[in-house]
Amino acid sequence: MSQKTGIQKEVTLTHLNTLRLHSVAPVFINITSESQLRDLDKNGFFNDQLPFVLGGGSNILLSDRLSVPVLKMSISGVEIIEDDDKSVLIKAGAGENWHELVAYAVKKGLGGIENLALIPGTVGAAPIQNIGAYGVEIENLFSSLEVYDLKSKTFRSFNTEECKFGYRDSIFKRELKGQMVVTSVTLRLTKVNHVIHDSYFALKEYLNQYKIQNPGIEDIYHAVIAIRQSKLPDPAEIGNAGSFFKNPVIEKKQYDELRSQWEKIPGYPDGTGWVKVPAAWLIEKAGWKGLRLGNVGTYESQALVIVNHGGATGKEVLDFSKKIQQAVSELFGIDLIPEVNIIQ
Ligand SMILES: Cc1cc2nc3c(=O)[nH]c(=O)nc-3n(C[C@H](O)[C@H](O)[C@H](O)COP(=O)(O)OP(=O)(O)OC[C@H]3O[C@@H](n4cnc5c(N)ncnc54)[C@H](O)[C@@H]3O)c2cc1C
Repeated sequence: MSQKTGIQKEVTLTHLNTLRLHSVAPVFINITSESQLRDLDKNGFFNDQLPFVLGGGSNILLSDRLSVPVLKMSISGVEIIEDDDKSVLIKAGAGENWHELVAYAVKKGLGGIENLALIPGTVGAAPIQNIGAYGVEIENLFSSLEVYDLKSKTFRSFNTEECKFGYRDSIFKRELKGQMVVTSVTLRLTKVNHVIHDSYFALKEYLNQYKIQNPGIEDIYHAVIAIRQSKLPDPAEIGNAGSFFKNPVIEKKQYDELRSQWEKIPGYPDGTGWVKVPAAWLIEKAGWKGLRLGNVGTYESQALVIVNHGGATGKEVLDFSKKIQQAVSELFGIDLIPEVNIIQ
């Protein structure tokens, strides 16, 4: 490792991605401060190619060998930068662990973030796909984020509107893909009059089961953790990247046509003529739930999660995912789009 720049060569990334895929970064730099990014840029490091920005590696599918340098985001720090009677603004470094931030906020009695407990990964990656779970998306509590812009070579900030958030989507996955290194994220959390999001079916069921009436933010936090632990595979035990595909959103007309053939096809209309269909249901009906080919399979109790049973390569996982896409397309005429970022 070069002492001056922190540049390491030929670094194995197997322990830095939750699918546990073997992959090698030709060049790897651990980023612990904003100034490090500017110094690297001054030295011409980003002139030839944009690097790959790595957070916790929980939403990526890596090839055996990456073609670009890797920046591992490890900028730390959590601070309350504004505090009034009703709410706070909390700013966290991109390298902070997302779930630890949620736990810290809930412990302090701060609300708005509790439904997003136990989502793996870092704070900096959370706005990239507008993480969401149990009826809440980061967009709902988002205030702003700071980035280093690799093209203009400046630091700048984005507010909610500028991030162009969508369902598992933001400007950073589209127009500005790969160009912005998020260095910190600022969220607005409530101190009083918390808005409780408990209408999601699984949450309601859990709260009823434990006879929790008028739940507070801590109740929701613990319920979300318990539900997630019972449904999703733990990457520490079996390699996976959570939901592999987004839930497709199709036109109501197409949904109605499908419904005449598949009476039980679930669908959630968004009120504007589009219907969200659970990808897990489509995959299960196509016969791929719990199926295994070699080292790769779908999780036995959640068809949307692709798992590495051990020793799988990125190509094997990608080929497997393409077979699922083909099967769903042939049966339903619906194209599944990966939620996971495919990195070459
Ligand atoms: C078991 C499991 C459950 C999951 N459940 C959910 C869920 O309920 N809801 C949900 O939305 N997601 C879920 N995910 C997906 C994942 O946790 C989130 O997408 C998370 O935000 C990814 O964070 P990360 O730090 O691991 O990002 P990485 O996987 O490292 O990176 C993801 C993408 O973000 C980019 N990126 C990362 N950090 C930065 C940065 N600082 N600046 C710019 N770009 C950056 C990367 O280049 C890459 O394109 C789950 C994953 C797993 C394994």
